[in-house]
Amino acid sequence: MRILIVDDERDIQGLLAFILKKAGYPDVLTARSAREAFTQLGMDDPACDVSPVDLLLMDVTMGEIDGIEACRRIKARSYLEDLPIIMITGRTEAELLMVAFDAGAMDYITKPLNKVELLARVRSALHLKHEMDRRKAREQELLRVTQQLAAANEQLAQLAAVDGLTGIANRRQFDKVLHQEWGTAIQAATSMSLILVDVDHFKAFNDTYGHPHGDSCLQRVAGALVHAASRPRDLVARYGGEEFVILLPNTDLGGAAVVAERVRDAVAAQAIAHARSSVGPCVTVSMGVAAARLRPDLQPEALVAAADQALYQAKQAGRNRVSVAAPLDEVVALQTHPGASSTVFLADVTELCDVGAA
Ligand code: GH3
Ligand code: MG
Ligand code: MG
Repeated sequence: MRILIVDDERDIQGLLAFILKKAGYPDVLTARSAREAFTQLGMDDPACDVSPVDLLLMDVTMGEIDGIEACRRIKARSYLEDLPIIMITGRTEAELLMVAFDAGAMDYITKPLNKVELLARVRSALHLKHEMDRRKAREQELLRVTQQLAAANEQLAQLAAVDGLTGIANRRQFDKVLHQEWGTAIQAATSMSLILVDVDHFKAFNDTYGHPHGDSCLQRVAGALVHAASRPRDLVARYGGEEFVILLPNTDLGGAAVVAERVRDAVAAQAIAHARSSVGPCVTVSMGVAAARLRPDLQPEALVAAADQALYQAKQAGRNRVSVAAPLDEVVALQTHPGASSTVFLADVTELCDVGAA
């Protein structure tokens, strides 16, 4: 424990140092003025590396800057706010002591010095400082561990939300976001669309090229999907196996059909050879689209079920196409873009519940 004695009287300084060293405190520094003490405490240049002091014994009456003003300036430095300061004074008027305590002193010793009193007060101040240092170290450690834990939790949440193969959101994350977006869309009475995407004849692809090649095909399809659904709130997720889902908040049926066609184009652009597809020479996808202007009586599951039904229709109709969920008695054919082989059905989206239940 290092003690700094600040006193402009050499005799007092020497006596204090002598008593302290003899009592088993070898690390005693001295300063003859407040300014000298500031330098030893590193206050002139906070960047400079000074050895920390654990206790300050400071004379009240000194030239230029007195002990009380010095105390005030020391305590104003955040890194010194825990440094205990014991004032040394020949005066004991209550008013003076009050000013000293207000300035940040923790105790005082009267002159002429009493050795027993001095050592008792030094011991208790150093004990207090030691306890405070320990508590601070524990708090720092706790803060470090808490931060580590928060970082680990965040990493874990990230891992729990991502599909290991493709790096896009997994089914769990999709379910979570769907319910969140659903609440938002109901409040704002906006539309929401959903596209279910299924790779055509993927079993045959695996059988022909092997499972690892199948994995890389799924990664490329996922990349194409992410490329096609580019709005910040769009979510592309792996729904399971070779099936993907795209959630399009604040998007109506027309907008979703455009995205679905873009998906078909993006997958086609990958040009992944598929020798055993009945559709063409390359990997293709089929899609089911459902949309709804949300109302409190609609459930997210109805939208998923409607998209699933539309996907089934797309498969039945020959694959490599987009079908839009609709009550079957209200189907209207819609040409999406010239040359597209997609069959798109327009839905009365307000009847989505019935579609899901059908
Ligand atoms: P359809 O055109 O009707 O969709 O036929 P399909 O062959 O694509 O569909 P099916 O459901 O019969 O087969 C899906 C295949 O996807 C079977 C399964 O082994 C494969 N699969 C599912 N998950 C993975 C995966 O993570 N990696 C690989 N390589 N294959 C997968
Ligand atoms: Mg498939
Ligand atoms: Mg499938």
